[in-house]
Amino acid sequence: MTKARDEFSIISRYFSAIGDADPNTLLSVGDDAAVVDIPAQMQLVVSTDTLISGIHFPQETSAADIAYKALAVNLSDLAAMAADPAWFLLSLTLPHSDDDWLRPFADSLNQTAQQYGLELIGGDTCRGSLSVGIQIGGLVPAGQYITRKGASPGDLILVSGELGNAGLGLASIQHKIELPEALDATCRQALNRPRPRLQLQSFLRQFASAAIDISDGLQADLAHILKSSNCGATVYQDQLPVNQWIQQQAAYEYALNAGDDYEICCCIAAANETQIGRWNQDHPDCRLSVVGHITDSGYLLDNGESDVDLATVAAGYQHFD
Ligand code: ADP
Ligand code: MG
Repeated sequence: MTKARDEFSIISRYFSAIGDADPNTLLSVGDDAAVVDIPAQMQLVVSTDTLISGIHFPQETSAADIAYKALAVNLSDLAAMAADPAWFLLSLTLPHSDDDWLRPFADSLNQTAQQYGLELIGGDTCRGSLSVGIQIGGLVPAGQYITRKGASPGDLILVSGELGNAGLGLASIQHKIELPEALDATCRQALNRPRPRLQLQSFLRQFASAAIDISDGLQADLAHILKSSNCGATVYQDQLPVNQWIQQQAAYEYALNAGDDYEICCCIAAANETQIGRWNQDHPDCRLSVVGHITDSGYLLDNGESDVDLATVAAGYQHFD
């Protein structure tokens, strides 16, 4: 560990110029609070998510991966709402001020913020067990945000990308499973570097009746849509977009119940089904798959043999169980 620093020198050295300056920011890091403009006809979408060492990431996770993921999980919430990222605040709690940790953390945060067009406009720095809290703000044309409410019977349920990879990555790190080398690398990458699906913004604004990002597993997160929309669903296990290993091992629980994939689950009217093929042709890196449809009530998982009532299946990760 190199030289310790006080709070103010940490802020000025590492966190005073992160990301891209936003024209709507009137006052950024350094005053008692930040001041930002909201352009006319736009609405502000805000969210916050905290990552705690040992709970949201394994203790040995690198500073660069922690910074990336803290921002990515917040960006994923904006992606689910179809909002454009604008700025963020950082509440950082550190056990000690270690330049060897702070430098890669700040560099990764800066790189990620620039990649997604975000500016760091303020925060808080404290001493304690490692925790990284981010509050994020994004913009959406008035009324065009997407919520969990709005799905209706007959809608198709779509998910982006592949499900289960992050869960496999975590299980591999915890020595619960052994994966082929290349897949192991892919899955650890999925766990440490989830890609917020902001590119879905236009598709969601045009076609989605409801959307959520998958942080706790498809079943748990789809359940939020169903509850908010007051309807049910049938999900077809054999339509889940999963890698070959999951198919061969029939390890579908990773796609259904493991968290951390940060893919998007959304619903669209069946009449818009042709839009899926169109989207997939243009976006091979963010393919959408139909995994089921919305029904009047109840949850069913069709696993090829029998229907499973999802209410009896383990729900996603709950912090206060
Ligand atoms: P106050 O005591 O008024 O709350 P602080 O001393 O906590 O102010 O913070 C001083 C300035 O530095 C504020 O503008 C705050 O937003 C910013 N700041 C503090 N910590 C961070 C951080 N980790 N990242 C970015 N900005 C920070
Ligand atoms: Mg403060």
